[in-house]
Amino acid sequence: MSHEKKALFIIFGGTGDLAKRKLYPSLFRLFRKGSINKHFAVIGTARREWSDDYFREVVTDSIQSLKPSQQELADFISHFYYQSHNVNDTEEYKILGNLANELDSTYELEGNRLFYLAMAPRFFGTISKHIKSEKIMTEHGFSRLVIEKPFGTDFETAQQLNSEIAAVFNEDQIFRIDHYLGKEMIQNISAVRFGNNIFESLWNHRYIDNVQITLAEDLGVEERGGYYDQSGALKDMVQNHILQVVALLAMEPPTLFSEEAIRTEKITALKAIRVYNDQEVKENFVRGQYVAGKTADTNYKEEPGVDENSQTETFVAGKLMIDNFRWAGVPFYIRTGKRLSEKGTRINIVFKSTPINVFREADTSHKDLPDNILTIYIQPTEGFSLTLNGKEVGDGFNIDPVKLNYRHSQENLDNSPEAYEKLLLDCLKGDATNFTHWDEVANSWKIVDTVRETWDKETTDIPTYPAGSMGPHCAFDLLEKDNRQWVWEPDSWDK
Ligand code: NAD
Repeated sequence: MSHEKKALFIIFGGTGDLAKRKLYPSLFRLFRKGSINKHFAVIGTARREWSDDYFREVVTDSIQSLKPSQQELADFISHFYYQSHNVNDTEEYKILGNLANELDSTYELEGNRLFYLAMAPRFFGTISKHIKSEKIMTEHGFSRLVIEKPFGTDFETAQQLNSEIAAVFNEDQIFRIDHYLGKEMIQNISAVRFGNNIFESLWNHRYIDNVQITLAEDLGVEERGGYYDQSGALKDMVQNHILQVVALLAMEPPTLFSEEAIRTEKITALKAIRVYNDQEVKENFVRGQYVAGKTADTNYKEEPGVDENSQTETFVAGKLMIDNFRWAGVPFYIRTGKRLSEKGTRINIVFKSTPINVFREADTSHKDLPDNILTIYIQPTEGFSLTLNGKEVGDGFNIDPVKLNYRHSQENLDNSPEAYEKLLLDCLKGDATNFTHWDEVANSWKIVDTVRETWDKETTDIPTYPAGSMGPHCAFDLLEKDNRQWVWEPDSWDK
């Protein structure tokens, strides 16, 4: 049986960066694998006046690195059409609707439509409204809406945005992209947890001391200064990616690995995260802003598009507590930032020590036994490692921690679909497991909003950290006051 999916992709913002860098290459990969083949068409729409031919040239450029053959390229781009269209203009939706119907019959798409809004969220409401009023949704086949972050700037704006799209699309037709959820190792969290009794039976407050999640970027804000300065690390990274990772790590096992069961458990986990009051925010969250350092010579405040007095954080670290039976008393430490020592995303699960250290007299080289740590590497390499204590070879009885290490081979990774490709295919299948449900978005905003509100009341200057370090001093103090430390320290603060 053919696994070809039939659909019309209508890409709003078809001339934009996201479309060119991610969507067209991902569509090409799907085409190459046969997931889309004869029965698909793409309408790119944006304000600019482009011809179909010019659009096809742009798409051709965007997939060059995938080295298409002449034949593949010709076949692929023949499915692309361009419609110049200002999303505020009702008349132009009629033209768009006609083109959609025409392509539907030419390519026999059975009324399946995927509306991809690769545009600023302020347009989501008006586009959705017009999709309905101008009857661009079909009555047969599926109509699905795919949207990008940021989903609101706080709970209230997110709710407003949601009510605008929910007036047109049902929740099961809305696919909120969080590209982190398309990553191989993020999906692997579930495999590691629920496929291995040796882990799942230890996955609770009795055996886990703390959990650490780091999403480190080595770059600064680059060209995104204007956007970033309005957002900051808390809203840009914690509200979505980090809290999604927390939910996957903390949720109860689903009864079945199905979209609905997973979603239910993730929502329950997010709801159990403690929402802090002002004082608790001050104790449990810290922030920082980068200044020149060994990897860069500009301060954040001097970046293009950034306010010279900006108090926006380029770094956040925090301690989350999850108030349920499984996690009572286990801190989930999170941190993310720009211009850190190294680019990398990893999760460290730190297990509790043995009840006593029976080697305390035999092995004087360790005051305490080294921790057992399960590390999940998400990027740039993907894999996991487990540190266990063994005996050092030789005389005496010294404990020697060994690391069992598994990294996916390059060959393996090359075969793995890119996050956007995977997510686009999920949309075509109607599988929303790796997308964020409104209830998840809402709960994440509630957690983040209280932190933001406390910070907005602060009158002291934001702490700074030098480019090429792992954040401000307070991020280290956060763990030290709990007698713990970050497992991953590619660089120390004072070196
Ligand atoms: P962009 O500025 O490159 O593109 C925006 C597109 O919208 C352009 O095609 C532009 O012509 C079109 N547009 C703007 N106003 C219009 C109007 N009135 N009528 C019709 N078309 C109009 O932006 P982008 O980087 O592609 O990002 C798009 C969305 O995706 C944003 O919400 C962004 O936050 C989000 N996003 C982007 C990335 C990325 O890698 N670029 C990653 C995650 C999320």
